[in-house]
Amino acid sequence: MTKRPGVSFEFFPPKSEEAEASLWRAINALAPLKPDFVSVTYGAGGSTRERTHATVARLAQDTDLTPAAHLTCVDATRESVIQVVRGFRDAGVKHIVALRGDPATGLGTAYVPHPDGFQSTADLIRAIRKEGDFEVSVSAYPEKHPESPSLDHDIDVLKAKIDAGATRAITQFFFDNELYLRFVDRVRKAGIDIPIVPGIVPVQNYKQTAKFAERCGATLPAKLADRFEGLDDDPATRALVAAAVAAEQVNALAEQGVDLFHFYTMNKADLVLAICRMIGVKPEAKAAA
Ligand code: FAD
Repeated sequence: MTKRPGVSFEFFPPKSEEAEASLWRAINALAPLKPDFVSVTYGAGGSTRERTHATVARLAQDTDLTPAAHLTCVDATRESVIQVVRGFRDAGVKHIVALRGDPATGLGTAYVPHPDGFQSTADLIRAIRKEGDFEVSVSAYPEKHPESPSLDHDIDVLKAKIDAGATRAITQFFFDNELYLRFVDRVRKAGIDIPIVPGIVPVQNYKQTAKFAERCGATLPAKLADRFEGLDDDPATRALVAAAVAAEQVNALAEQGVDLFHFYTMNKADLVLAICRMIGVKPEAKAAA
C-alpha cells in the first residue's frame, strides 16, 4: 500500500462569535484526519494580531493539533513583531509561517520596510529563530510573485529564507499542476531540498476564487471557468464539481510523487474532507474495544 500523504490545513481567524463557532466546527471536523499541523493566517498588515494569537493559543491549549501561526513584518517595528513571537512562544506555539506581507498600498506595489522594521523575510526568520526553537515555514510562488522581476529572483529569495532557517515552503495556490512541477524542478536544480508543499484551494465560490487568482497572478485554466459556468445559484452541483476538480488535481500530483498537501480551507471542512479521502487521508479507524 502506498504511504498516506501528509496534510496541513490553513484557517483564518474569526471576526465574530458566529464565525468563531463555524471555525471550530471546521477544526473539529478536520482534526480526526491527524494533520501534520494547522495554520492560522495573520491579517493584512497585522490587522488580526490578537485574533490570530487567540486562535493559535486555543489550538495549543485545547486540542492535540500542532498549531502554526502566520506572521508578517510589513508596516511594523522589529520590537512589535518580536513581542508577537514571544506571545506565540508563551502560548505553546512552536511553528511560525514567516511572511513579509503586502504593503498597505496593495499587492504588487514596491515593499518599503518600516524604518524600524525588518528589511526582508529572511531578516524576520533570523529574529524568530533567536527567540526560540521554532520551526519556520515560508511561502513560494510557482507562477512568480507579482512583484518579482523573475522566477530566478524568487528562487534566490527562497534560498535566502532557507539560509535564515526556514525548513518548509508552502506554495501560493495554483490550478495548473504543470506550473508547480516545473517550479519544483527549477528549485531542485538550484540546490534547494526542503519540501515545497503545494497549496490547494478548493473552489468554494468560483467568482471569489477567480478574483483572488487575478490578484496574486495565479493562472485560471479555461477548463476551470467552463466547469463552474452557470453554477452561481446551484450550490449543491457546485460543491460536487469543486470536489471533483480538486480531487483530480491532488490525485494527479500524488501520481507524480507529491506526498504533502496544504489546504486553504476557508474555514470550511466539507470539501477538504472529501478531497483528503481521495488521496487516502481519512479519520483513523478506532481500535476495537
Ligand atoms: P517574500 O518571500 O519575502 O518575497 C516574495 C517575492 O517578492 C520574492 O520572491 C521576491 O521576488 C519579491 N520581493 C520581495 N521583496 C522584494 C523587494 N524588496 N524588491 C523586489 N522584489 C521583492 N499574507 C498575509 O498578510 N498574512 C498571511 O497570513 C499570509 N499567509 C500566506 C501564506 C502563504 C502560504 C503564501 C504563499 C502567502 C501568504 N501571504 C500572507 C501573502 C504574502 O504576505 C504576500 O504574498 C506578500 O506579498 C509577500 O510575502 P512573502 O513572505 O511571500 O515575501
